[in-house]
Amino acid sequence: MKRVYRFGGKEAEGNGQMRNLLGGKGANLAEMCTLGIPVPAGFTITTECCTEYYALGGGYTPELKHDVAEALKATEAIMGKKFGDPKNPLLVSCRSGARSSMPGMMDTILNIGLCSATIPGMIEKTQNPRFVYDAYRRLIMMYSDVVMEKAEGIEPEDGKAIRQQLDKMMEDLKEAKGYKSDTEITAEELKDLAERFKVRIKEVLGVEFPDTAEAQLWGSIGGVFKSWNGKRAIKYRQIEGIPDDWGTAVNVQSMVFGNMGDTSATGVAFSRNPANGDNKFYGEWLINAQGEDVVAGIRTPNPLNNATKSPQNAHLKSLEDAMPDVYKELDDIRMLLEKHFNDMQDIEFTIQEGKLWMLQCRIGKRTGLAALNMAMDMLDEGMIDEKTAVTRVSPAQLDEILHPILDPASEKKATVVAHGLPASPGGAVGTIVFSNADAVKAAAEKRKVILVREETSPEDVEGMRAAVGILTQKGGMTSHAALVARGWGKCCIVGCEDMKINLDKKEVWFTGSDKVYHEGEYFSLNGAKGAVYAEKIETMDASDNPRFVKFMAIADKFRKMGVRTNADNPEDTQRALSFGAEGIGLFRIEHMFYGRNSETPLGKLRKMILSKTDAERIAALNELEPYIKASVKGTMKVMDGKPVTFRLLDPPLHEFVPQTEDKKAELAEELHISKRDIEKRGESLHEVNPMMGHRGVRLHITYPMISETQFRAIFTAAIELKKEGYHPMPEIMIPVTISERELRFQKAICERVRAEVEARLNEHVDYKFGTMIEIPRAALTADRMARTAEFFSFGTNDLTQMTFGFSRDDVSTFMGDYLGNKILDSDPFKTLDTKAVGKLVEMAVKAGRSTRENLKCGICGEHGGDPASVKFCHKIGLNYVSCSPFRVPIARLAAAQAAIEDEQ
Ligand code: PEP
Ligand code: MG
Repeated sequence: MKRVYRFGGKEAEGNGQMRNLLGGKGANLAEMCTLGIPVPAGFTITTECCTEYYALGGGYTPELKHDVAEALKATEAIMGKKFGDPKNPLLVSCRSGARSSMPGMMDTILNIGLCSATIPGMIEKTQNPRFVYDAYRRLIMMYSDVVMEKAEGIEPEDGKAIRQQLDKMMEDLKEAKGYKSDTEITAEELKDLAERFKVRIKEVLGVEFPDTAEAQLWGSIGGVFKSWNGKRAIKYRQIEGIPDDWGTAVNVQSMVFGNMGDTSATGVAFSRNPANGDNKFYGEWLINAQGEDVVAGIRTPNPLNNATKSPQNAHLKSLEDAMPDVYKELDDIRMLLEKHFNDMQDIEFTIQEGKLWMLQCRIGKRTGLAALNMAMDMLDEGMIDEKTAVTRVSPAQLDEILHPILDPASEKKATVVAHGLPASPGGAVGTIVFSNADAVKAAAEKRKVILVREETSPEDVEGMRAAVGILTQKGGMTSHAALVARGWGKCCIVGCEDMKINLDKKEVWFTGSDKVYHEGEYFSLNGAKGAVYAEKIETMDASDNPRFVKFMAIADKFRKMGVRTNADNPEDTQRALSFGAEGIGLFRIEHMFYGRNSETPLGKLRKMILSKTDAERIAALNELEPYIKASVKGTMKVMDGKPVTFRLLDPPLHEFVPQTEDKKAELAEELHISKRDIEKRGESLHEVNPMMGHRGVRLHITYPMISETQFRAIFTAAIELKKEGYHPMPEIMIPVTISERELRFQKAICERVRAEVEARLNEHVDYKFGTMIEIPRAALTADRMARTAEFFSFGTNDLTQMTFGFSRDDVSTFMGDYLGNKILDSDPFKTLDTKAVGKLVEMAVKAGRSTRENLKCGICGEHGGDPASVKFCHKIGLNYVSCSPFRVPIARLAAAQAAIEDEQ
């Protein structure tokens, strides 16, 4: 087992392909070295060592100790310095690096190796005591926070964390001396501060700050390993679905310093704009600073170049102007890297006394809009092919593109209270909250909130997730908040410096105005412009972007599976068509009794339900029929020339029993019976377990006249449309079936009604007859079902309910416990459970097709719009998925990506 991989001096033992072992950061550092890019020498300790570390209960094997010592020697040789040496000391950094990037979620320690033995030599070497003591106080701050507190599992109360205490000591010093900036603190003051820091650490944590280079190094390696299981990292992995057992690699790398004076600097950049995808080198830098200063959002950083300045940083000097040669070199590296990796790169660099060093490169996180624009640009530039372009936008990012923006008309009328940096686009409207906890609480109560924070901290990850938008006073485009929000496609504005916050009073105000806003008041954010409004603005869809349409057309070239929609009215159908639906996979007839214009047909349905005799029932059905016909016809007309699957009524009947006194009275009068009789008839319909009760086909077996009416309405509508010049393609589907005999029973009625309608209207009508498969018995007898059914549509909502025995209406009471305790990996009502439910589907498809070779199979449960489930549907050979209109593009993309994956 090779535990340590070295890099430096244009050579490396690892390479970019070794992400699993070296983590993303380690793999790419190695790759950059071999590309001849200047990278400070160092080595990567593999992710396997992290696993080993945990297996040993937090210890190191002698082999690891040996390998690190050897690698350190090699690093020393390249850098011409020695770790722990009193005369010419090498300082190193220790950084985490997981397989999949987890920005800011794990920890980093810089300046390791500064101790009483090396500080004098360092001062002698640099002739810069201020720099040395500044580096030392940073080491103390980071190390005590990461290694001595967090890694030890100490959870101080709010405001009492060691890092906060040390920060406060530094702030107090600045205030006492009247300093505005950290850079004004003198060497002597920093030296004294460092000593006081160490005393405070001993007081608070009960342990001395380590004073040898060796102890600091091993403490840091352990601290980074432990940060894999830090709270933030665990939460982030849960949200992103990253497995807990991957572990992190540790990168030990020679320090280079961006804080050695005015010819030194540090920065973060993207090879293209990560918020909107513009092909412009985009980034931020700070003069005389160390890396963390940029991402931590302490100061609003300078723009990288003049082309990407924003109103907030236009007054600050660009790197392009300040250090043109270095900028040119950086720009060349940016192009080299982008070409090499064929994708947008997120890079970190440091300039030490005019010399450029690259500290990191990785594939950059981006918003959905940026992902789409970059994929299409890179395709046009010839950098990637169509297939790759299709894989560059994830279904979740597509979802984000379809998310609302502020309605421009409504926005025009509103007043901007402040501007910040447009960190992540989209529109967000919600009431303001000021803490992580309040955001989480609000989300649990289904309230939409905007999280307002002074600065951005990865500790807020849960609250950021819970909020619809994020607004911060400090920080730049590359701050943690910006990066994380972009990754999630969440609207985010940072660096809104005109905003002032009083956390205790939970209020906020803006320079130039006396008005104060309190928790609970509405704010609206335009994340693309960075505009903040202290009022509620309307939102609208963002889906008619022409690039989106073009991108989807390319995706469709690769897709093998059809995509239909679940819709039951002309408006939804029209929307689904505009999103590319190829038919309706589920028209729930009972939906005509909900919502707008449903009063009259609902009254007739109630009359039918509460009828006592067949004669009464038939009379009520006859009154209802024209309404069913109108509903069916309206939608079939919009879906002209494409199949529409009508599913017979499938609600538990008692849901439709009138509840209010006046409705009961109205119905009593119509039926010429007493109100009490109405109540009695309603009570008789009560079922203990309605989900398994008299619903679906069972109802139509008891009352064949109910199916008869629906068949007649559908055939009449189809023939009328045909006569009007349309091309209706009705499909009739029977729900909740368990036996082929149910199908035969219904098919006989259907055929009889068809013959009658054809004779009456003197016109032929084609249709298909099929069934839902949503009960395990139906799946298990699929070979028989297919004798009568020409198609199957898997109702995976009920099939999941029936397979798990989890009531789909009540599952929320315990699903959290199942997920939290890892008994289930995901909610089976959201993502298809392939182990059992999926297995039933796969078996049923095979069995059905063994009877009827061309049996058409689709899915119409909610899973039809879930990307992972769509991929499974492709794998098992379904002909189509059907999902809600808004999810149609997502299903199209997921199906295309599944087909592309299949080819590879
Ligand atoms: C299903 O059960 O998956 C289905 C689509 O039907 P419904 O949700 O209407 O029960
Ligand atoms: Mg169902």
